[in-house]
Amino acid sequence: MATIVFFCIPAHGHTNPTLNVVRELVSRGHRVVYYSYDDFREKIEDAGAEFHSCNGFDAQLGLTREDGAKIGSDLALSTRVLVDTTLALDEPVCREMERLKPDCIVADSMAVWGKAVAKKLGIPFVCSTTTFAFNRESSKIMPHSLKEMVSMVFSMGKVNAQVKRLQKAGYPVRSVLDLIGSDESIPTVVYTSALFQPCAETFPKHFAFVGPSIRPARSEVEKTGKELVYISMGTVNNEMLPLYRACIQAVKDTRWQVILSVGDQVDLKKLGDLPENVSVYPSVDQIAVLQKADAFLTHCGMNSASEGLYFGVPLVMLPQTSEQGGVAARTEQLGAGLRLKKTTPDAIRAALETAMSDPSYRENAGRISESFRASGGAKAAADCIEGCCFAGKKKG
Ligand code: UDP
Repeated sequence: MATIVFFCIPAHGHTNPTLNVVRELVSRGHRVVYYSYDDFREKIEDAGAEFHSCNGFDAQLGLTREDGAKIGSDLALSTRVLVDTTLALDEPVCREMERLKPDCIVADSMAVWGKAVAKKLGIPFVCSTTTFAFNRESSKIMPHSLKEMVSMVFSMGKVNAQVKRLQKAGYPVRSVLDLIGSDESIPTVVYTSALFQPCAETFPKHFAFVGPSIRPARSEVEKTGKELVYISMGTVNNEMLPLYRACIQAVKDTRWQVILSVGDQVDLKKLGDLPENVSVYPSVDQIAVLQKADAFLTHCGMNSASEGLYFGVPLVMLPQTSEQGGVAARTEQLGAGLRLKKTTPDAIRAALETAMSDPSYRENAGRISESFRASGGAKAAADCIEGCCFAGKKKG
């Protein structure tokens, strides 16, 4: 039996895929200790892990909802948050790792404190990534906008100052890339298939492309029209009233059944009178809807796109960040969706019509679906983690 420690950031999209992996490791007789945040306690304990809360240790980061949305795209802000969190967790986490003596640490690619403590204490480490894996080849599919490049260059001074704070605390990091870059020498679990991952063949063998982890539906959706169109811009940057209005205009004279999930920031009254074929909700059981959907207008968050493709649903894509742009670009390359070029009602209707009338989109989404289902899932992820534990034991 091994002791395996997980670290994750406070985000459902990063936590959910790990839960089946935890279940699998526990069923194989391992002890799993999971460091996360109070909101996630229930689902982590349900999966069979011992939960340890980081809330008490954590710095008062004082982040606004807007800041939260910028993490990942604003390099200076992201590095400050990651370094603050790592330093706030440094002392208690190092002490606990010395007590627990884990055989392996598994940390989300953004939970850099997990990777940092593994490096500092020489504990075998597995990276868990819920986005595409990055290397020189695959990053070409996610070209950063000029604005992002400029802000990155200007933020480097601030970023390097943050890295120095970590070096002072004894962490062997050379640059920000040691924190947030994929490290090809590290065994890595990637929650997509080798088909959907751009340039999968350029990654070493210890990158396990295990496929997305799709939770079961919690309800049943009644299909009332011949075609069901589902529209959602995710759960983070979804305050997009003009887009939702345009979508309602686009579909009002069609015979499609349309389900629109708008998040909890939008005042539903501001959407005006709804046509009979349109239902709007702050949130839906997305898996239940996608099982019956014929087209999905999505922002291309990795989870949403993977869930849509898992059920073979063609995507109409309106990415908002460079990461979502990468997911959209890969979906387009594989012919499973098309981009929305304009957000006028006419353009939206035409794109949805194309996605549903040209059978190649559904066929190609079906190919990706098959690759997801054949990728090994939680069992393959657990094999990768066990391999790391045993390799560490042999060395030790
Ligand atoms: N989701 C949901 N109901 C909704 C909208 C979204 O259950 O009405 C779920 C969806 O199934 C997915 C997640 O929220 O698992 C969104 O994650 P994604 O990575 O696509 O986008 P984000 O919200 O992080 O931008």
